[in-house]
Amino acid sequence: MGLLTFKLGGVHPNPHKETSSMPIEDMPVPGELAILLSQHIGVPCEPVVKKGDVVRAGQVVGEVRQGLGVSVHAPCAGKVVAIGQAGHPVKVSVPAVILDTRTRPEGASSDEVMAGECAQSHEDWRAMTREEMVSRIREAGVVGAGGAGFPTHVKLSPPSGMVITELLVNGAECEPYLTADHRVMVECAADVVEGIAMMMKILGISHAIVGIEDNKPDAVEAMRRAVDDAALDGGQIDVIALKTKYPQGSEKQLIYALTGRKVASGALPASVGVVVQNVSTVLAVAQAIETRQPMVRRVVTVSGSGIRRQGNFRIAVGTRLRDIIDFLGGTTPDVKKIIIGGPMMGFATSDLDTPVTKTTSGIVFLSSREVDRHQGSACIRCGRCLDACPMGLESMTVALYVEAGRGKETTPFGVMDCFECGSCAFVCPAHRPLVQLIRLAKQAVRSSGAGLRK
Ligand code: SF4
Ligand code: SF4
Repeated sequence: MGLLTFKLGGVHPNPHKETSSMPIEDMPVPGELAILLSQHIGVPCEPVVKKGDVVRAGQVVGEVRQGLGVSVHAPCAGKVVAIGQAGHPVKVSVPAVILDTRTRPEGASSDEVMAGECAQSHEDWRAMTREEMVSRIREAGVVGAGGAGFPTHVKLSPPSGMVITELLVNGAECEPYLTADHRVMVECAADVVEGIAMMMKILGISHAIVGIEDNKPDAVEAMRRAVDDAALDGGQIDVIALKTKYPQGSEKQLIYALTGRKVASGALPASVGVVVQNVSTVLAVAQAIETRQPMVRRVVTVSGSGIRRQGNFRIAVGTRLRDIIDFLGGTTPDVKKIIIGGPMMGFATSDLDTPVTKTTSGIVFLSSREVDRHQGSACIRCGRCLDACPMGLESMTVALYVEAGRGKETTPFGVMDCFECGSCAFVCPAHRPLVQLIRLAKQAVRSSGAGLRK
């Protein structure tokens, strides 16, 4: 039997995993941080500090008073110099707490300067109740680190009536260039396995499966070794090598690859008995439960030939792109495009004041030779986009409808099931901007009130 994978579609972009063997380095905290008040799916945070306040490392600076969401915290001690605006990878600009990290609270010792850096006592999670563990995850502001930032404590509290049998841990990291999850699995495998065991306890289950693409054999080995060394109290964690195929790490494709179960259109993974968590989220959960460490730093891959030094860096949330560029010696003269995330699903930005958020897995600096500069032309009806789509969607038809001003009529083509993986655009010989056209179709459907599935 071959390696497990999803059935429909999929593509094989150049992996560009040049940073996969580069160990995680700590980037020093810059003199100023821009901590976005909108870093998760749900209601944005309200600031709970004001200009002139001096805050301690790990202090809450923004919270959600009502509705879905979690707090944001100060990664570092400092003085609030403004409640202003800062660039957002998707929403262009959102409110932010601007923190001068050179001003420290009176009496703060040097080990209080950076949240999570000081030696903290590890508490025994096995003695905690599930409710206490979930509450620590919420208080630490943990959100899905590999995607859009859904609050993790909510994902770990599935709707009543839904029976969860497995936790699936996403270590696929199928996006080209990105290797942050890879390094987390290699360097922090024991903590990730501990986090998996914690989540199994919260969910009341005894089985978890970690899916890792087979282009990361060292991660598979490190995770298997960590599982062998862990005290699992009768639980079972399987570490499975998956076929390397994009988009292996998307939720529905991963669920199918690891369990053979299909999630219906608009349904939650819980409807087929699973909860899916990304490895970096699992690590944040372990730290939140054991040491109450808030989600204030994360591992980010900085890659592409448009930056002078590449690698994997542990970066404070709120660190601006321009400070990262300075730290790495600048961009190269032929840098053409900066993408937050990976090149398949990430978002291009030219605003160097955009900061790292809890969900920034990578920043890719593409040079002119790495950017597709072809002009889009008319569809030649070759059908390659349909063959590549993991959801079996006719993106060419959706695109034609949008161009004809009929975007809101695209629900029958399943446009709302498109998760914008970019596989269709990747294979299109006419270089059609299919993902952009699909986004326009989705907007048209949403504003017409038709096709809402969730
Ligand atoms: S972007 Fe959407 S339509 Fe295109 S391949 Fe991905 S899921 Fe299919
Ligand atoms: S791949 Fe491009 S050219 Fe071919 S059918 Fe799809 S949209 Fe048309």
